[in-house]
Amino acid sequence: MKALQYVTVGQPPEVREVPTPEPGPGQVRLKVTAAGACHSDEFLMSLPEEVYTAAYPLPMTLGHEGAGIVDKVGEGVTEVAVGDAVAVYGPWGCGRCYPCSQGKENYCERAAELGITPPGLGHDGSMAEYMIVDNPRFLVPLGDLDAVKNVALTDAGLTPYHAIKGSLDKLVAGSTAVVIGTGGLGHVAIQIPRALTPATVIALDVSDAKLQLAKDVGAHHAFASNPEAADRIREATGSATVTAVFDFVNIQPTVDLGSALSGVETDLVLVGVGGNTAQVGMMARPYDATIRSPYWGSRPELMEVLNLARTGLVGVETETFSLDDAPEAYRRLHEGSLRGRAVVTP
Ligand code: NAD
Ligand code: ZN
Ligand code: ZN
Repeated sequence: MKALQYVTVGQPPEVREVPTPEPGPGQVRLKVTAAGACHSDEFLMSLPEEVYTAAYPLPMTLGHEGAGIVDKVGEGVTEVAVGDAVAVYGPWGCGRCYPCSQGKENYCERAAELGITPPGLGHDGSMAEYMIVDNPRFLVPLGDLDAVKNVALTDAGLTPYHAIKGSLDKLVAGSTAVVIGTGGLGHVAIQIPRALTPATVIALDVSDAKLQLAKDVGAHHAFASNPEAADRIREATGSATVTAVFDFVNIQPTVDLGSALSGVETDLVLVGVGGNTAQVGMMARPYDATIRSPYWGSRPELMEVLNLARTGLVGVETETFSLDDAPEAYRRLHEGSLRGRAVVTP
């Protein structure tokens, strides 16, 4: 079969011919129908050789957003049947520790110790004609949802949903939510408080095209992401501080901006994987202002996000690429010229 693999540190990923994998006992093989390209893949491939760790073996098939049709099941699998259309829950855990028992496999206590990694982020992922899923627990029925249009909800939807859910009780009438970085994750993030809350939603980005996308998906306001954004927000809302900031970039300028927008009880939620520092402490931040760094989301939350899509309240803007053109999807992601998410359709 064909697969998009990261082969050499520092080089673009390559489409290669590899053996079609066989499902072992308890495993499920999917015929992949859609696979999303995330900035985290791009981040991984930007790491220099001395930092790139053994946790990510090479060659590795990329793709931690996946959807497919159950194609073959391993011995003992009865929970899914050949022909089922499913989405893959990516942050695999042990399934038995306390967080996993709550469905929060993204916060598994034992994943590192047991060597459990997400597909595409430690072992072969979804950017291939077929993929192996270790347990039917990681498969959520897609039902009538289109795989290509919705595959990105497994990360670009689930991650912002989990991040925003943590601040939901604060997003009451009169509140303001700021989304910094309206790319793959951010453009879905804008839609979530619009769907679930009466908050005013303000998008910040450095690209005019992304600011237009932000407005198209429901942002009340969209401003250039720079130090003057605080003035624009004050003019728009009447307040110099906001209720919550969801930062999908997380570099020093965005963290500084998020801190400048923080008032009493503001949530600053750092989702992006950029390097930065922020000061915390009694004198450094307003009373009860918080900083959180959430990771991905829980299995029940993935079901909730898919249900939001079923109601039509949340959707993903997608640009599709064939598997042969998948390197181009990553080139466009790197260039910053995608509208929404790049989805590869093997
Ligand atoms: P993306 O490239 O699709 O979007 C990034 C957006 O940020 C683009 O629209 C870009 O124009 C904008 N941007 C760049 N610099 C900016 C600045 N200074 N101010 C405002 N906007 C700016 O990336 P993505 O796939 O949406 O991923 C977003 C981030 O989230 C990445 O860092 C990724 O690694 C991270 N991520 C984290 C998790 C998690 O669980 N915490 C999960 C998935 C992705
Ligand atoms: Zn991701
Ligand atoms: Zn666990």
